Amino acid sequence: MIIVMEPTATDVEVRQMVDRVEEAGLEAILLRGEVRKVIAAIGDKREAPLERWQAAPGVERIIPILSPYKLASREAAPGATAVRLDGQVIGRQKVQVIAGPCAVEDFDQTLTAARAVKTAGAAALRGGAYKPRTSPHSFQGLEEEGLKILRAAGDDTGLAVVTEVLSPEQVALVAGYADVLQIGARNMQNYMLLKEVGRAGKPVLLKRGISASVDEFLLAAEYVLKAGNSQVILCCRGIRTFEDHTRYTLSLGTVAYLKQATHLPVVADPSHGTGIRSLVAPMAKAAIAAGADGLIVEVHPEPERALVDGPQTLTCEEFARLMVELRPVAEAVGRTM
Ligand code: PEP
Ligand code: MN
Repeated sequence: MIIVMEPTATDVEVRQMVDRVEEAGLEAILLRGEVRKVIAAIGDKREAPLERWQAAPGVERIIPILSPYKLASREAAPGATAVRLDGQVIGRQKVQVIAGPCAVEDFDQTLTAARAVKTAGAAALRGGAYKPRTSPHSFQGLEEEGLKILRAAGDDTGLAVVTEVLSPEQVALVAGYADVLQIGARNMQNYMLLKEVGRAGKPVLLKRGISASVDEFLLAAEYVLKAGNSQVILCCRGIRTFEDHTRYTLSLGTVAYLKQATHLPVVADPSHGTGIRSLVAPMAKAAIAAGADGLIVEVHPEPERALVDGPQTLTCEEFARLMVELRPVAEAVGRTM
């Protein structure tokens, strides 16, 4: 259950409530919202003296949470959680776009893409330095050299840097260069990795696994939240279905569903979600109309020469045009760009 403290509750009252929860044999996790604190009480609530807790000083109300994801559920944070993207935030009125190449290939390619997406209005630069490839024979990424290139391009443009981390051992290294740690679809249920990024103190972009249910997706987010990191962005990047005309199926119903079920920001990935360049713009617009807080889009100065994911990658010019076309869609649903 969630114990919502009054906005005026004192630190002592919050501390006393945490103690009462722990004395009842439940785990107490303190979540600090912008206006009020809430305490998630996790465990067998049959033991909890709810009526007495309800009357305790500083307590506003007690909300039972039936979903298996306690910390990610909408009730756990009155109001939506905003996640830091360097100087910007995602999860508020402004739709934020993260863009850049699938993989960092060299300095010029990354810097050219970074400058182009910045000029077009992106808030963050994406790019993989460690690539989880289906085949071990495919390009695996520039590794630390790629991280250095990304950081330089991020610093040059003022864009936040979003990049994937593949293993728990790499988290400290990647966190030394990146502003946001991306957990890829293939690693959504790598629980050691989720715990490690939860402890790293950097925002996390968590991609849905290609065959993960929504509950499994939210429970993966729950691992990061439980490790003490509430800065999680959920990313719908397409799932595997019997649809065979697109690379994956970008489930926009899930975007709308997640906006109701959780307080975390939700972004859509129309690049991996379709695998087809010409479908990126229409699905990007549809995602914003469905309530997405942002997008992650693959952009490369020369997609036909891209080492990874060229067929789904926009040119810099196509991306600039898309950003112009997205604005009226965002405004039509009460958002800004
Ligand atoms: C990527 O963002 O380039 C990527 C590998 O994504 P996913 O994990 O969704 O396949
Ligand atoms: Mn890619």
